Amino acid sequence: MDKIYLDNAATTALSEEVIDAMIDTMKTNFGNPSSTHSFGQEAKILIENVRRQIADYLHVTPAEIIFTSCGTESNNMIIKSSVEHLGVERIITSPMEHKCVSESTLDMKNRKGVEVVYMRPDEKGDLDLDKFEEILKSSDKKTLVTLMHANNEIGNLYDIKRIAELCKENNVLFHSDTVQTMAHMDLDFSAIPLDFASCSAHKFHGPKGIGFAFIRKSSGLKGIITGGPQERSLRAGTENVCGIVGLGKALELSLQNMVSYVNHIREIKDYAIERLTAEIPGIKFNGRSAEQENSLYTLLSVLLPYKDPLISLQLDMKGIAISQGSACSSGAAKPSMVMMMVLSDEEMDNCTPLRISFSHMNTKADVDALVKAIKEISAEFVIEKTNIEHR
Ligand code: PLP
Repeated sequence: MDKIYLDNAATTALSEEVIDAMIDTMKTNFGNPSSTHSFGQEAKILIENVRRQIADYLHVTPAEIIFTSCGTESNNMIIKSSVEHLGVERIITSPMEHKCVSESTLDMKNRKGVEVVYMRPDEKGDLDLDKFEEILKSSDKKTLVTLMHANNEIGNLYDIKRIAELCKENNVLFHSDTVQTMAHMDLDFSAIPLDFASCSAHKFHGPKGIGFAFIRKSSGLKGIITGGPQERSLRAGTENVCGIVGLGKALELSLQNMVSYVNHIREIKDYAIERLTAEIPGIKFNGRSAEQENSLYTLLSVLLPYKDPLISLQLDMKGIAISQGSACSSGAAKPSMVMMMVLSDEEMDNCTPLRISFSHMNTKADVDALVKAIKEISAEFVIEKTNIEHR
């Protein structure tokens, strides 16, 4: 059975060129970048080249890029160090954030007594920026705002430029979790006055175990992993040289091919919207997911008009990998906070969310196979349900 992968918001397949670049580095360059001899210095040069490449992409200076192990580590570091080293006493955030942000925020509340203000989104997943401005102005406490760029479950894009400008006007620090948008779109941090951002290579066909944090030089943030002086003492530990090379190659490919990738993925997403709407009566799209303008082009969040908590398992048995968005209101799986925010109680009880996420490697045939599989499963499901009701 040919398998189909439609879960690219969770992780992406490594590009061949990335694998080749990493293997080449592992074979030819094992030096410790902190060593002063040529083995070390050659490894150091590889790292600094990638740091420069990222800095050029984001329009920042290389010293503002700190390599970490992943998006989770970058977000933890930024939030926890803001409290521990920059004296942050209040965090403004929203329930739409990824767990690594919401749990870090909660940790700072529980262990450090930080005040946490949650901005409740509306049923489309949008945040009210007038209300946000009011909250910003409502306290003199040293404040960090942490709001993501694109939501990883429903794909909503947030206006981080406007949010950053409001933070700047009010002398407040701003962190944005940019894990779902880095290398997927142009980002110019010379025009967006944010202080911190995060990246994870495995979201754009790079390897797992490598990411980076953007830390604005003027912010004064310090690291939370202490030890040697690596990464300007902001993140101690011998660098993951072949991971960094892989990240650099994946970024290079993303930037080189961005226009064709975006056009290709948009076409497939539009096709999916059209086919699902035509073939599954009553289907809905969550948040801003089906809109070109306000959503991540790689992600489509759908709501099936019946309850089937096992659908992702059933799809997997048919060779299709997809994520459910887990809004089930029964069983062991806990409902997702994001789904609880955008779905009504009735939808939570009677419907099934599915997150379809695309990459340039997908085709319209993948969408056809998905639609066919959902139709087959729903037919089986209706027969099964009818049998149970008549037992
Ligand atoms: N932030 C967002 C929005 C994500 O989607 C993810 C991964 O799913 C992360 C952070 C965590 O990134 P990583 O898997 O690199 O720890």
